[in-house]
Amino acid sequence: MAKTPVIKAVNLSKTFKLGKDNEIVALHSVNFEIYSGELICFFGPSGCGKSTLLSMLAGLQPPTSGEVIVRGKNLANYKKKELSAYRREKIGMVFQQFNLILSMTVLENIALPMAFGGMKRKRRMQRALHLLEVVGLGEKKKSVPADLSGGQQQKVAIARSLINNPWIIMADEPTGNLDSKSADDVIKLLISLSRKSKRTVILITHNPDYLQYADRVFRMKDGRIDKIDVNAKTTKVELVDSVSKLDKLKENENSESEEPIFSSEIGKIEDEKKEVLSEGEDESNEIPAEEDKEEENVEPREALSEKEDESKEKEEIKQ
Ligand code: ADP
Ligand code: MG
Repeated sequence: MAKTPVIKAVNLSKTFKLGKDNEIVALHSVNFEIYSGELICFFGPSGCGKSTLLSMLAGLQPPTSGEVIVRGKNLANYKKKELSAYRREKIGMVFQQFNLILSMTVLENIALPMAFGGMKRKRRMQRALHLLEVVGLGEKKKSVPADLSGGQQQKVAIARSLINNPWIIMADEPTGNLDSKSADDVIKLLISLSRKSKRTVILITHNPDYLQYADRVFRMKDGRIDKIDVNAKTTKVELVDSVSKLDKLKENENSESEEPIFSSEIGKIEDEKKEVLSEGEDESNEIPAEEDKEEENVEPREALSEKEDESKEKEEIKQ
């Protein structure tokens, strides 16, 4: 049986309507498949649609037409809560801005996306410390973001992205705000996550120096994937040793399970949320997840199939 891609784009398109007769087609019917453990670079000039594409893969915005298929399931068919769970637990996002909360310690920042997962605070903090060690900053456990350099802050953001043991780490220009030495360190960390810990990593960059490390490079231009380069042999890089500690966290977390766990786990997550809320210690520090306010029964998003014909007419992408 053919291997199921971790994530797949089918005729994925995005148009932004700005005003009457004024629209931007950010993405034109893009197709690709990404497999477990791959390190993929999306490479292309500013404005070619990289961030738009990534945000749709991450379920942050719906496509205008086409589909995002994650482990065989169409994101458009997820209920609102499932989509929230997908964003929170299955995707680890890293951005150019580190987006750390300045009033929290680095450990609290790392643990934050777990605040509603049901795990006790003490256990969350232990896990956060473990991840801080994974990214090589164990000695900074008492620091706040302002104590750290940009590169160190980005490593904390990477640790945070790993807290829920995601299926895919998505990094959108993670080195854009860093000096070249810090940038290299951050890239080495992402490469190590892929090579040492077999994580699926999607890296958006416009730095050609990094392409040699990717398994495949998706070259983008004007909202299309122009070309996919396969690196038969990726350039070796000195890997970050501390990343191997991440494997210890995999136990009992079935990160490689082919079965999405959403529906069956939603009830459990709800119970655990109640438990966390009744835990009563230091909750004032924690920001409620947005989805906590969502209604119980939300209809699936409108099917996109009626737009399929339209996207089929669009030019096929040469791969
Ligand atoms: P990249 O990440 O490759 O620099 P983007 O995905 O950010 O490119 O943008 C692709 C195109 O879509 C650009 O022309 C950009 O101006 C436009 N765009 C992106 N997001 C929006 C939005 N929310 N509203 C309108 N236009 C947008
Ligand atoms: Mg961008």
